[in-house]
Amino acid sequence: MENNKYIKNNSFRDLKIKKFKNFLDLLLKIKLILSDYILKLNTSEEKKSEKLKIIKEIYSSLFEENKKKTDADFVLHEYSLAEIQTLSDNDIVEYLFHRYRYEFFPNIKKTDSYPPYLQIEPSSVCNYRCVFCYQTDKSFSTKSSGHMGYMSFDLFKKVVDQAEKNIHFLSLASRGEPMLCPEIDKMLDYTKNKFINLKLNTNASLLNEKNINMILSSGVKTVVFSVDAADKVLYEKLRVNGKFEKVIKNIKLFNDIKKNDFPNSRLITRVSGVKFQEDQKIQDMDDYWGELVDHVAFVNYIPWENVYDSKRTNIDEACTDLWRRMFVWWDGTVNPCDVDYKSLLNVGNIKNDTIKNIWNGEKYQMLRNHHLSQNRKNISPCFNCNVC
Ligand code: SF4
Ligand code: SF4
Repeated sequence: MENNKYIKNNSFRDLKIKKFKNFLDLLLKIKLILSDYILKLNTSEEKKSEKLKIIKEIYSSLFEENKKKTDADFVLHEYSLAEIQTLSDNDIVEYLFHRYRYEFFPNIKKTDSYPPYLQIEPSSVCNYRCVFCYQTDKSFSTKSSGHMGYMSFDLFKKVVDQAEKNIHFLSLASRGEPMLCPEIDKMLDYTKNKFINLKLNTNASLLNEKNINMILSSGVKTVVFSVDAADKVLYEKLRVNGKFEKVIKNIKLFNDIKKNDFPNSRLITRVSGVKFQEDQKIQDMDDYWGELVDHVAFVNYIPWENVYDSKRTNIDEACTDLWRRMFVWWDGTVNPCDVDYKSLLNVGNIKNDTIKNIWNGEKYQMLRNHHLSQNRKNISPCFNCNVC
């Protein structure tokens, strides 16, 4: 990457990305689109809109030559540029506005009508038992626990209809493997042309010709293959029940279908692992997977596998996730995070309420206020959690 003035890479522990072909052209395009938007709105009644204010801030952070840089400045991460590169010009302002909401609102503890990021869970069931995952907690993952199930298409539709035009950063994933959901094909089809930045996370074990075609025809913009190793022994030690050869075969198949049958697809593929132990090396990952996917990354491990029995952390900083993301689980339960995978913090249910009401509702607000008044130490499981 040739120009560090505009970009930073600090959201992944490690990230390898294919080089941008026309980096300076892309920046120039962003600059022109933003200035055009500002000019147009400056002459209209929307002069005082929140969105215009934010777009001006983004423009100033990125392009004003004499501006003194501070931590409050908006920066473009490498992966943001990679995402922008796949968008049509009409979507770039919207993308940057929602990227800003995602990155900055949690820092300044600001809520507007909708969460910056929404995670929808097609399935809480998983065919793996990865060592760092709450699926290893039998009180969660056994059938009789009441936590296991698949979202119905009707409920999915209800959530997507409310999110459309209001939320642009979403993931189809949470506590289980989405491709296990019996209605995943219909769900994928329903996302077509609806969101600017929709991700699908999968362990890649269940991919086949049919569902790969569904994904590539859907509204998904990034597919994240959850893989943490470049060799069979390490992979199968971490991803318990996983079969390395099967996953390679499936990711290769994905790549072939994308290349041959969807040559104009702008979908981004990423192999992303949890950095759980020292012998997982990003360079090995890139050497192995880099030819098959657009990005290779590690995210930091946090002890997801059992927050309820973890030691208290004594952190009293407010958790930024309370202002960043919302989870809708297969049965409609809304939770502020998936660290609390058994939903002690349950803030509502989408079956009898709306995303907007729940996000701004009393329960969510009370939780935020407790965190802001350093009262996190009295909330389970927040007092055992490392996220801040
Ligand atoms: S990390 Fe993902 S693939 Fe592994 S057990 Fe958990 S939900 Fe399943
Ligand atoms: S502190 Fe941890 S458990 Fe509490 S809301 Fe944040 S992520 Fe969830």
